[in-house]
Amino acid sequence: MSGSPVHHGEEIVLAGIGVSAGIARGSVCLANTVFDVPVMEPVSAEQAGAELERFLRAVAKTRQQITALRNRVERETGTDDAFIFDAHLLMLEDPSLLQQVEMKIKNQPQRAEGAFYAVMQRYMDAMGRVDDEYLRERVADLEDITSRVVRILRGESEAVAQRHPHILLAAEISPSEAAGMDRKLVLGFATEGGSYTSHSTIMARSMEIPAIVCLPEITERFHNGQDALLDGYRGLLILNPSADTLASYDSVRRKKAALSRHLHEMIDLPAVTPDGQSVVLAGNIEFEHELPALRTHGAAGVGLYRTEFFYLNRPELPTEDEQASNYTRVAARAGPEGVIIRTLDIGGDKLHHHLHDGLKESNPFLGWRGIRVSLDRHEVFKTQLRAILRASAVGKVRVLFPMISCLEEIRHARELLHECKGELTKSGTAYDSKIEVGAMIEVPGAALIADELAREVDFFSVGTNDLIQYTLAVDRGNELVANLYQPCHPGVLRLMQMIAQAGRRAGIWTGVCGEMAGDVLLTPLMVGLGFEELSMAPSVIPSVKFAIRKLPAAWCRDFVHQALACSDAAHIASLCKGAAVEYFPELVA
Ligand code: PEP
Ligand code: MG
Repeated sequence: MSGSPVHHGEEIVLAGIGVSAGIARGSVCLANTVFDVPVMEPVSAEQAGAELERFLRAVAKTRQQITALRNRVERETGTDDAFIFDAHLLMLEDPSLLQQVEMKIKNQPQRAEGAFYAVMQRYMDAMGRVDDEYLRERVADLEDITSRVVRILRGESEAVAQRHPHILLAAEISPSEAAGMDRKLVLGFATEGGSYTSHSTIMARSMEIPAIVCLPEITERFHNGQDALLDGYRGLLILNPSADTLASYDSVRRKKAALSRHLHEMIDLPAVTPDGQSVVLAGNIEFEHELPALRTHGAAGVGLYRTEFFYLNRPELPTEDEQASNYTRVAARAGPEGVIIRTLDIGGDKLHHHLHDGLKESNPFLGWRGIRVSLDRHEVFKTQLRAILRASAVGKVRVLFPMISCLEEIRHARELLHECKGELTKSGTAYDSKIEVGAMIEVPGAALIADELAREVDFFSVGTNDLIQYTLAVDRGNELVANLYQPCHPGVLRLMQMIAQAGRRAGIWTGVCGEMAGDVLLTPLMVGLGFEELSMAPSVIPSVKFAIRKLPAAWCRDFVHQALACSDAAHIASLCKGAAVEYFPELVA
């Protein structure tokens, strides 16, 4: 494949969902995930031994490749994220798998590719049929391993398509592929499936690789080498971009670059309105390796550490020591405001194969999720709480409980925290005895009793992603009802106002850590409602800071009254757009 893009006819514009901002231009490269399925190829009985040896050599080489990839990811990210590859290595060491392939080659002398593929296909079929989302997702890991081994057996190099900078098109991108991406070569990627919260898109955002999801059939319609432009801001993939399109994107890119330079000049300035209202701007992270991005984007700390990602994609639950050292490292590097560590928010769409083993729920988002799991699995919860407390001895650490829906839950969680403190005191382990405790307010019932909850905690963090989903009865991941997922719905804003007021009256601080915090068009509402902290994807912090520095808080408070007097979301959204055009037109696309 040549590195220079080839123009093949008319411009084609495909619209998907932009999940990682930025513009990329280059030649298309189809992910090497589709390959000719190996079929059974008989060999003579004398050749069977040689086939078996060839198979074992390919397995050893695959293990070397994966280990090298694992080490590279670990070195480059300085984290434990590389554990994704441990599961792959374990599969390749599974004696029963190796034995089945050996028996197949011996009993029915055949080439190793077909024998190995047949065994793996049985596993993939069986797992794909299991009524368990976690296990079904593991089929992607099996496919990953299978294609690696088969390619090695065929003598194909996985690097063939990846020598030149390119825009990657794939049906799906596995977490291991995303984690192993070389950002100098992968200029951007687009996938047929995927969602805003899938592991691969989370990684794309943290690596700042522009990305789009939900573009059906792209891998069938396009081929290697075609010229493409990927607009991660608007979710557009443009094949064969015309001279006019390229010229207009050149100017968009220049403007974005100039704006980004300008925004970055302010990263050390405080996030304060012209009339003196300060807002703490913090970053949301899922992985430790996102910490450097916090610094480069001027975050004051980590406002939400989603620790459940630590538990996913690994065969065992993390130990107390492992968690304590991770949380300690994050606390040490989080910045002046430290880190708010959210306890395990597993459940809903994030299932754990241990904790959710065999569990079948009709409505997982309304089921065993977040604090409910923790309060039912004391040992898992207390292991995490002790780890968080240990980290609080060395850095500024706060603990945050997800999915709180009633008073009893917060009291129960605090009791267990108290027990953990006692255990650490007994063993002479240091911790911050005054560690601040917060409740995520993301269930409408909790918002309605925010005045009661405020007496039990030191701070609130509003999880708008779930608050919207539960208030409006709209599944946050379902594209069929995506138009009803309205952050500006008056019902949502009224609840947010109740939460902020309840916090103020009780003398505790309130922040927002859902996606609304990082949507610059909503900044006038966030400031006007009086939230003291906004936590968001690190890359959007400079824009939100810019807007805050332009918006008088007194004006924002009036603006909130005006917005809350509206009866529908469209009207409020249009007021927000008007405010943005008036106060920070530079940021309005
Ligand atoms: C939220 O619900 O707004 C939130 C921040 O939590 P998550 O997106 O992890 O559910
Ligand atoms: Mg949530």
